[in-house]
Amino acid sequence: MSRAPRLLPDIVPVTPSAYEDFTRCRRLHYCGHLLGIPPSDPAPANDQGLLVHDMLWRIHATGSCHDDAHVDDVLAAHGASSDAVRELVGRHARRCPARGAERSAHEQELARFHRLPPPMFMATARIDAIWVHDGLLDARDYKTGSPWHTRVADVPAARVQAFVLGAAAARRGLRLRLRYEYLQPEVDDDPEPWEPDDDDLALVEEELRAAVEAMWRERDWRGVGEPDVCGRCRYRSICRDSAAPGEPSWPVLSMA
Ligand SMILES: [Zn+2]
Repeated sequence: MSRAPRLLPDIVPVTPSAYEDFTRCRRLHYCGHLLGIPPSDPAPANDQGLLVHDMLWRIHATGSCHDDAHVDDVLAAHGASSDAVRELVGRHARRCPARGAERSAHEQELARFHRLPPPMFMATARIDAIWVHDGLLDARDYKTGSPWHTRVADVPAARVQAFVLGAAAARRGLRLRLRYEYLQPEVDDDPEPWEPDDDDLALVEEELRAAVEAMWRERDWRGVGEPDVCGRCRYRSICRDSAAPGEPSWPVLSMA
């Protein structure tokens, strides 16, 4: 019997990326979230994506994305005044509900605990932006890659985001809308936003609970071994089940 189940804490943490990985490949989840192995095949650094997230947070924290002079000031103050960054911010502004919003929050870490029926888990998610308007809790996830799904409801990570956001919306008597904003110019349409009702959110909670139960039952943590999945996996070179093995790119000592 594998010792892997002992790696699970009594209250299993569930994040959007952990659940995304678990649904994609159990060995990926095992290596990344239970063993915490550094990636043997890290994804290329997404410096521009991180910069745009940071700039959007600063722009909204101190003013409005619809105020061009303010946007210019924030970008200039952080050395981010390139045409590319300006265009990504502009693409956000066209979709931003800030003008009619009563309240907003940015870069919020939310958590929601599930106790019964067992097993227990603690879901957490960091949400890029939340606006309250028209009876909605309008949550946004900024994206600078390419969409994989045509509906937010189909994204495993979004199931965890909706679970934590749903409780926040219900406490305020608001309906939840979760939207993924694709900021790259080459992406024409965002995936269809998701407005889960109470029944949908109850199903999401059961789905996450069942996934955590499956983690407790898991013994082998076998990889899916599919070229499509393995080819972009951050452990493809060290995974015993990889369908796309290669050379690891661990950090190595370099000396003159
Ligand atoms: Zn905005």
